[in-house]
Parts: sequence; structure tokens; C-alpha cells
Amino acid sequence: MNPDRILILHDGYYDTQLEDLIDNRTEVKTLAETLANLGCLVDQMAFDPHEAHALADRIKSWQPALIFNLVETIDGSGQLAHLACSFLQLLGIPYTGSDAWSMQTTVNKLVTKRILAGARLPTPAWLEPDGEGEFNPGLRYLIKPVFEDGSVAIDRNSLVWCTDAAQLQEKIKARSAETGYLCFAEQFIDGREFNVSLLGETGEPVVLPLAEMEFLGFSESGMATVLNYDAKWTEGSFEYEHIQRTFQPRPGDGTLRDELVRIAKSCWKLFGLRGYARVDFRVDDTGQPAVIEINTNPCLEPDNGISAAASQVGIDFSALISRIAAEAGVSLQQQSYGNKLSVYQDTTANWQDQLTSRLTNPTDLVPCPGQENVQALAEACAVAAVYPMAVTPYYANLAQPDNPSCPIRRQYVPDPAELEHAQDEVDDPLEEERYSPVPGLIHRYPDRVLLQVSLECAVYCRHCSRKRKVGRSSERMTMTTIYQGIAYIRAHPEVRDVLLSGGDPLMLSDDRLAQILTEIRTISHVEVIRIGTRMPVVLPQRITPELVKILQSAKPLWLNTQFNHPREFTFASESALARLADAGIPLGNQTVLLKGINDSPVVMRSLLHHLVKNRVRPYYLYHCDFVRGVGHFRTTIRAGLRLMQQFQGHTSGFAVPSYIIDLPHGGGKVALLASHLALNPENGRIEVENFEGTCYVLDLDR
Ligand code: SF4
Repeated sequence: MNPDRILILHDGYYDTQLEDLIDNRTEVKTLAETLANLGCLVDQMAFDPHEAHALADRIKSWQPALIFNLVETIDGSGQLAHLACSFLQLLGIPYTGSDAWSMQTTVNKLVTKRILAGARLPTPAWLEPDGEGEFNPGLRYLIKPVFEDGSVAIDRNSLVWCTDAAQLQEKIKARSAETGYLCFAEQFIDGREFNVSLLGETGEPVVLPLAEMEFLGFSESGMATVLNYDAKWTEGSFEYEHIQRTFQPRPGDGTLRDELVRIAKSCWKLFGLRGYARVDFRVDDTGQPAVIEINTNPCLEPDNGISAAASQVGIDFSALISRIAAEAGVSLQQQSYGNKLSVYQDTTANWQDQLTSRLTNPTDLVPCPGQENVQALAEACAVAAVYPMAVTPYYANLAQPDNPSCPIRRQYVPDPAELEHAQDEVDDPLEEERYSPVPGLIHRYPDRVLLQVSLECAVYCRHCSRKRKVGRSSERMTMTTIYQGIAYIRAHPEVRDVLLSGGDPLMLSDDRLAQILTEIRTISHVEVIRIGTRMPVVLPQRITPELVKILQSAKPLWLNTQFNHPREFTFASESALARLADAGIPLGNQTVLLKGINDSPVVMRSLLHHLVKNRVRPYYLYHCDFVRGVGHFRTTIRAGLRLMQQFQGHTSGFAVPSYIIDLPHGGGKVALLASHLALNPENGRIEVENFEGTCYVLDLDR
């Protein structure tokens, strides 16, 4: 199991107009966001019993540590919701909430009432559709569905008065036919209504502050105090506007409250409830309570019943979710990588806070098992002294804490291998300095230039081609240098494409970036601006609505980012990409092919598919440059070409990037094709031609 992965299992997708079913989607979204903010990697899957085998395979291959079970309905009905619990039990992965038996018994109100009556716990008298039960002449009955949650199919016509049992039975039948739900009749208690929320703590129920639903102005308006569908969902209806929740006890309620707590706790035991639940009561005018419903796994939304009750005692929504997870046996607090900084947990912290809280020393990192020794730390520090280290709390939190080979961790933790290098590895293999007519500007191709506007990055990637420059206090881009670069562009009408790079251009403040973009936009021959940034990957909080507006106003502007592994897709990074894509900014991705990180077909396929799902075109797959200090990440060209063979023709064409090598000695970029393998030269060397027609010899096994 992957200790930081949490799966949300939710209702299947089908067309529905019912708000409470639509609500399940909102609940999933909110929970996903909360879990992501707690530092978890979150995925969501719909439960469809017809696809149980395929779903089990998907879940097993993703290996979540915990599954949040939010399945409330199957094909629009709550009757079979317990199948999801049975499925999860069989799967053997911890899951939240109650088990299949509890769910199956409590979702059926007739079974619930029989069990309650058998245990001598109070519940209103009832009449079943087949005539079983009790009819009390002269009293009103509420006709409601046997299987659906509280307010579904309950409206003003649900409350009836009948002369005898036969007449009531007829009305039950008619109502079942009208609503499409099997109904029964429950004696209506015209009194107060209470919700008692329970939270498991090592198996025992903790009772949260009791909520009373107040029916304001109902008696004056001649309305029955029924909490119906309109009360919950129809804005503007009388019921919606005149029912409110209060946690304020009324004077003299002490005995009643004690009794509600006693009965709610008894229900928890009787029905084997687990995790979290809610018991709903009506109380008659003599102060006698009766259970009308038991909700296993009630809705989890910040302003909903259990969350509202928890917040009364200082348990906020995140803490509530953590407690529910803990009750299922998984501690979300331990999911995060290290806890040295409070902002570690807070992936929503603004981007400046994330930057100031960056971990910049190997001693800041929590070591993996086997890497705790002093020598390993000393070696990492020695590397960081040559090639700076920095990682945002957000990105560090994506790493698997106990896996030294974690594909995320390897991208930011200094490795002693960085200090070793082969003879053909140099600091500047692309000879960028040679093609730099003014500081910070590289003019290698006729019609385009690269302008470095910052040499800082949120995370210093261990595989960076510019590791000779980035993150060093001796190397800074000033506005004077940047303006020199812009003046160069202005003086060269052949330049139609400007790539802002670095470092990471989005390390600049919004104002500074806007100033540079505006200045470049005044140059009439510049057709296109591009930005190369890793922010959506390592600090997605940087993609604020304000930043998006600035980028939008410099259109046509393309943004290329660098996702290297599917684990880098999180709720936060996907939301950042969506903000950019929704604003009409074309997105591309330049993956670096990294040995042991993404050089397997399974990982690469998943990465490519994640990109296109998020509206990002996989643009380049870079063969790792012959840069000093990155040799341990480099695969052979042959391995890269074999990898490409797995995709060309085997997945959507637009999901396949070009495999690019930046030729040594500043030869420029060349696309390598899987067909190069077929040449099969005896000495393993192939010849490629750059854009200037110059031939370069490449060793397939280097
Ligand atoms: S973000 Fe780009 S420039 Fe910065 S360290 Fe990573 S690869 Fe290098």
C-alpha cells in the first residue's frame, strides 16, 4: 500500500436532477480538496457493482492506504449502497464508516424500526405496505420511503390522516406508485426534532453537541413541522427559509438531552456503527423522544450536520476528516512527509509562504529508513554546497517518506553521484554562453531567443541542465540585464518568438512579470511569447487567478511546464492546470527522461495520459543532457528509443511527445525517431543532422 494515497469511492455517474444525488459530487470535490490540503495524494473512483472486477483491479494497482466510502446510492437508490461496503470488505483495504451489515440494516427503515423495537428503544409506531404494524386511530401518519435518506420523496402531501388501517394502506400504495419509491407510514410526532451526531474514538461513540431543528413560524402559518425535501433543497420555499439548526439548549432540557445521548449511544452499539453516524429524533410534547432515522456515513460537507456539530467543539473540517480516517486505522498526520514546518501540511498556503518555508538544507529533510546515518547526511550536505538544494513543502510532501528511490524524492534530494562525472560531461554542453550576445539572452536559432528573467526556482531539480547557474547568489538577473535583453530583441526584427526561461520566470512577482511581458508586447515583430516553468508541478499555488490574468493579457502566450512523473498530478496541480487551460493559455509539457524515475513504459504511459487528460500537450521528451552532475539520471539513447517505440502508434498521436536530444557543443535540438533503431549500425553509432545541416555522431548506448 502507498501510505499517502487516499481513494474516494463515490456514487456512479448517471443523469439525475435530484439535488441530494448531485450533492454526492459536491461532497467528493470538497473531500478531495481537504485531503489534498492534508498532504495526501487523492484519487476518485465511481462504484458500479457491474464493473466490480475492473474496479478492484484499478484500486489494487493504485494501492491506496485508505478508501473514503462516500457511496450513498447505486443506480439512484440507497437500497443497495451496502454493496459498496461488502466490496470494500472483500478488497481488504481500510475504509471509512460503517460496514455492510450496519449499512444494510439502517438503510432499511422497517428493519431499523423492528430492531429498535426489539431492543426496547423508542421509535414511532408504523404501518408497513403489506399491512403489518400498528395503526392508531385519530393520529396523523407520515408516508415516507423505506430505503431513501431522510427527506427524499417527502413533501406536503406526505402527511395524512386516515380513518382506519386499510385506508392508510391504500395511501401507502398510492404514494409508492406516485414517487417510485417503496413507502411505509410512520406515526407523526408533532413536536421538536433533534439530530445527534456521533464520532467514533477507538470504537466508542463520542457525542457531539446536539442540534435542534427549529420550525420558525410554522404553527402561525398552519404548517406541519415536517422536514421535507423542500426544506433541504428548494431555496425560496417556506420550509427552506423557516427551518434553522441551533445548538443552543433550551432551559430545562437537561433530562431530555441525557436521554437523547443515551439512546443515540445505544443505537451505535445495537447497529454496530463505526466511524461517524447521526441519529435523528422527534420529541413529543411530553418530552418523550423517539428515533426516526439512523444515518450511517452521513454527508460530509463543511456546513452539514456532523461537521457543524464538530465545529461547535473546535473540530474543524480537516480535523474531522482526519479523525474519521484514524478511526478506519489510518493516520493522515503520518501521511505527510516530515512535520518540521507547519506549512508542510498546508498546501493551500499562499505561494510566498511556501517559498519562504522551502527546505534548503538536507538536514531539514526527514531521512528515509537506511539514510539516517551521519555519513549519508554529510554527503548530501557536501553535494548541496556545490549544487544548491531547495524544495517547497508542497512538493516534498508528495514523496513517499520511507522510499529512498521515490521518483519525487530523487528529483530534489542531493545525491553524492552528482559529484561524479564522465569525461564527456561538462557544465555547459549546449554552449549557451557562446550563443549569448548579451547577458541572460541566448540566441541559438535564427527566429527565436531565450531570455532568462530569473535564476531562482521553487525547487532545484537535481537533473537541471543549468545547475551551473541556478540558485547561486553570485548569479542574479537584474532588471537592468533583463532590459538589455529586451533591447536586443527590439533591435533584431528576425526574432518572432521569445521564450522566457531561467531558472523559473514565475519566481518573479506579478508586477515584475507584468512589466516584462508588457515591454516585450510593445515589440511589433515578436509574434509569440513562451514561458517555461515548473510551477504547476512544484508550487501550483503560484498559478493564482491574478497571475493567470497577467498571462492572458500577453497573448498569444504559450506555457510549457515539466511534469516528470504521474505522482506529480494532484488536486492542486490539476486545478492549477485547469485555471490556465480555462483561460485559453495553450499548455505544453517537456518531460526529462530520467533513469529510475520515468523510464518505464507503464510510468511514461500514465504520465502522458495524465497530461492529455489535463489539457496539456506532451511536447518534448528530453534525453538527459550531457551535463556534469546529472549522469546518474541518463538512460542510453537506445533505451529512450525503445521507450518511444511503445507509444508511437500505440496511443493517441497527440499524446506522444517528440524525443529530443540537445546536441553537444551547442549543436541544437534534434528529434530522434524510433526508426533510428532499425538502422542497427554495427558500431552502435548513428548520424544525425542538425537544423544547419551539420552532421553529429551519436552513440546509441551512451
Ligand atoms: S525548475 Fe527548471 S531551471 Fe529550475 S532547477 Fe528545475 S529544471 Fe532547472
